[in-house]
Amino acid sequence: MVQENLADVEQRIQAACERAGRDRNEVTLIAVSKTKPVSMLNEAYGCGIREFGENKVQEMMDKYEQMPQDIHWHMIGHLQRNKVKYLMGKAYLIHSVDSLRLAEEISAQSVKHQVQTDILIEVNIAGEESKFGISGEETIHLVEAAAALPNIHIRGLMTIAPFTDHPEDNRIYFRKIKELSVDIDRKKIDNVNMHILSMGMTGDYEVAIEEGATMVRVGTGIFGERDYGQN
Ligand SMILES: *Cc1c(COP(=O)(O)O)cnc(C)c1O
Repeated sequence: MVQENLADVEQRIQAACERAGRDRNEVTLIAVSKTKPVSMLNEAYGCGIREFGENKVQEMMDKYEQMPQDIHWHMIGHLQRNKVKYLMGKAYLIHSVDSLRLAEEISAQSVKHQVQTDILIEVNIAGEESKFGISGEETIHLVEAAAALPNIHIRGLMTIAPFTDHPEDNRIYFRKIKELSVDIDRKKIDNVNMHILSMGMTGDYEVAIEEGATMVRVGTGIFGERDYGQN
């Protein structure tokens, strides 16, 4: 099933790139494997997937130990400061930085472990109350403050668009965050670049690609529905 799903997702990514006049190489597919067993991750790995996304630190660490070494692990979930230390040298990219205090902790732990950590700033672009992420207006201040911290590097922005059955509804948000990233890039802040735009999930990744996503985070579309039942 994973293989067929991946083929379908890949085809859709290519079609979206073509519609937008973009090169397929500009878009990285992250397979979001949260709640899924290692056997399914291995299936995806066998199909060539090397980018995996998880939203819980403990789960990522468990899978990190069991999977091959050449994987890039993406932390995409809300992160508590007391768990940052476990990610050092293991998370390829932390997508979910939405406060200066969290950025400071990632910096402090990176210094302590003598590693460099790439991060994205998570923006709540639609201003949804239920969502983590910093507001669009506050983003530049957080970027400027976090840019000065040692051993961390801001590589772009991440957003989770509203849940909707109509992906077209989210086009406006994807466009807004792209504009925000261009504005920030223009400021040429030391130690900051806006190369990465992490946006688009199973329901809306094609629209996100049309609007400039460089990373899409697809879970259900690859691994099927998640069961949060008893475990
Ligand atoms: C779960 C999750 C995804 C993947 O969601 P799907 O709709 O299953 O593709 C993407 N991004 C984040 C931050 C997530 O938590």
